[in-house]
Amino acid sequence: MSLLAPRSHLLNDLNVEAYRRSVTEGVERVAAQLSGATSPFTGVTPAALAPVVDAVDLDRPLGDTAAALDELTEVYLRDAVYFHHPRYLAHLNCPVVIPAVLGEAVLSAVNSSLDTWDQSAGGTLIERRLIDWTAGRIGLGESADGVFTSGGSQSNLQAMLLAREEAKAAHPTQLRVFTSDVSHFSVRKSATLLGLGPDAVVVVPTDRERRMRIEVLAAELRRCEAEGLVPMAVVGTAGTTDFGSIDPLPEIAELCARHNTWMHVDAAYGCGLLVSPTRRGRLTGVEHADSVTVDYHKSFFQPVSSSALLVRDGTTLRHATYHAEYLNPRRAAEERIPNQVDKSLQTTRRFDALKLWMTLRVMGADGIGQLFDEVCDLAGEGWELLVADPRFDVVVEPSLSTLVFRYLPGRPTDPAQIDRANLYARKALFASGDAVVAGTKVDGRHYLKFTLLNPETKASDIAAVLDLIAGHAEQYLGESLVHAS
Ligand SMILES: *Cc1c(COP(=O)(O)O)cnc(C)c1O
Repeated sequence: MSLLAPRSHLLNDLNVEAYRRSVTEGVERVAAQLSGATSPFTGVTPAALAPVVDAVDLDRPLGDTAAALDELTEVYLRDAVYFHHPRYLAHLNCPVVIPAVLGEAVLSAVNSSLDTWDQSAGGTLIERRLIDWTAGRIGLGESADGVFTSGGSQSNLQAMLLAREEAKAAHPTQLRVFTSDVSHFSVRKSATLLGLGPDAVVVVPTDRERRMRIEVLAAELRRCEAEGLVPMAVVGTAGTTDFGSIDPLPEIAELCARHNTWMHVDAAYGCGLLVSPTRRGRLTGVEHADSVTVDYHKSFFQPVSSSALLVRDGTTLRHATYHAEYLNPRRAAEERIPNQVDKSLQTTRRFDALKLWMTLRVMGADGIGQLFDEVCDLAGEGWELLVADPRFDVVVEPSLSTLVFRYLPGRPTDPAQIDRANLYARKALFASGDAVVAGTKVDGRHYLKFTLLNPETKASDIAAVLDLIAGHAEQYLGESLVHAS
């Protein structure tokens, strides 16, 4: 096949027909894949798929969109893990809403970069409106500001940077960050990246509900000051990754005020509550935060990536401000030209905000909140199923949409064997492709996890997957008995 002139692939006024055709062809392939999917995964192994990917000669282009899409089906589309399928129950991934996918198509084609006004114009204003809108939902007050980020990890890192700079005067090794034993690992990673000492993160234990134990936090803060150290920040989690548990935010706020400490709320998961028609109250206390992480790509049904950091006092974002003559000179700030790079850890930056904008303009915040409510309701139904089922042990009643449980054989069994049976069940399920579930450790033992973010998942799906899990676990226990005898 002869190749078309390279310039015929540029998206410009001469090639709008090719653009329309090419993107439509891609949309058709994805649509066909979605409508044909009977399971969330084919169960393909890395060993089976790697040779298919390796066989592609990257120095020999196919020249033709249809051929490239045929090949893409082989190397990716057919075997991808599909979050829209009702039996994908594993991680904090959501099926995405169509207005956001439309936004994604628009933002890639126009390709604005949100670092400076002269690379984005209206995009900058749209992002700012959404930041103000989110800060308003949180209740951060008139001086609030923020910026879109690549994800919760980056939002947490930036929050810790601001907190470190605000806790000035202290030597970095004297700074302490308090967070629960089930907070996200990006808190510890951020402390390392920011040059805090190895003892910087003080891990506060959680109660049975996996919420930070406030009396321990109080004692640790007192101890910190008694030792002449500086409490830099308390990181409360509104929706822990493993359990969906929400730390006692009003009590954390009180302690932060008393100790003059930065309060960060990691609501990467729980931010969906901001638009919930019935559950907003579960986030009470978040309005006292100095900074808040939200991942729209978790509970707002947005495509990756879409996240933001919000701060109560917009002037604290200056700690991320560096000027470059070529890009955002100091005089631009003096002339009040809105250059978002002045608030961001990134320079060139995607216009992710457009996806949320299209979502709010087409379906509205209540629509998103209703979908999130549905998955929270579903988790409640799943909890009832698990509590009533003697085959399973379930950990905490869900505050959001997560269920953590494990299979228990109805007879005396070595605990290590139970661990292995649950690990096996997860792997066997993944290999079958029938469903995808996650796993975690609770008090040293292996558990399984459903993170429910798909409103199309029904209680009957949960029941069916529980039966599959029990079947795989029993098969493992039966076979290991045969091997032992
Ligand atoms: C997912 C998650 C993060 C990390 O967010 P990314 O978008 O994956 O970087 C941080 N905190 C919590 C509580 C999370 O659930």
